[in-house]
Amino acid sequence: MSTARLGFFTDTSICIGCKACEVACKEWNHVPEDGLALTGMSYDNTVGLGADTWRHVAFIEQARPDGLRWLMSSDVCKHCTEAACLDVCPTGSLFRTEFGTVVVQEDICNGCGYCIPACPYGVIDQRKEDGRAWKCTMCYDRLQVGAEPACAQTCPTRSIQFGPLDDLRERAAGRLAELQQAGVTDARLYGHDADDGVGGNGAFFLLLDEPEVYGLPPDPVVTTRDLPAMWRHAAMAALALATGAAASFLRAGR
Ligand code: SF4
Ligand code: SF4
Repeated sequence: MSTARLGFFTDTSICIGCKACEVACKEWNHVPEDGLALTGMSYDNTVGLGADTWRHVAFIEQARPDGLRWLMSSDVCKHCTEAACLDVCPTGSLFRTEFGTVVVQEDICNGCGYCIPACPYGVIDQRKEDGRAWKCTMCYDRLQVGAEPACAQTCPTRSIQFGPLDDLRERAAGRLAELQQAGVTDARLYGHDADDGVGGNGAFFLLLDEPEVYGLPPDPVVTTRDLPAMWRHAAMAALALATGAAASFLRAGR
């Protein structure tokens, strides 16, 4: 079995918004139903990722000089290279797999919720019913037997592509060049850059507009980046306090 880092490349330029990925994900991973309400946001009935929505297909309607345009994009956990959710988990429930993905082991999640604000993308979420944290596992059980994740296998247009990250990056660069040559100058890659604030993503995207249009942060930063410095400052402050208290105690004893 390959031990190369595996990932997703989601090419939103060929997504048709069928939501087969959402359904396949739910079916394979036994993710509970998350509502069929009309949200008023086009055909989007889940609005964002959550404990019960591990793939979310966004529908963005844009009025442009040349007419109405629909942008569709299937969002997912980014399986960050520097994953803050994993850094803050006190139980080891979140861990890095042999495929470079980030997985939650629900049986040892204690529901503390530290991982929720740590994620710079707002991906991981607590389930109301049991308080535990849930998110995409990139179908870890399927990867272990050499199968691809359910969403990628189901996507009829191959908007969701799965494989070794290096191959996907190469393929994405080729697709981007093709689109730009065809005059789609706003096309861009998101999450592919290993020098970005999270060290690059294991799940990256080809977008047709600014990330904010899709509800994605433009410059995500690993939220635990400053933790070592903060702990150092806290330790120095605690030492200064202890020294001051000891000095007062000695003075009072004279
Ligand atoms: S996107 Fe959020 S939940 Fe997913 S690996 Fe990165 S920090 Fe963790
Ligand atoms: S299955 Fe593919 S084409 Fe259908 S909504 Fe998901 S990403 Fe888009």
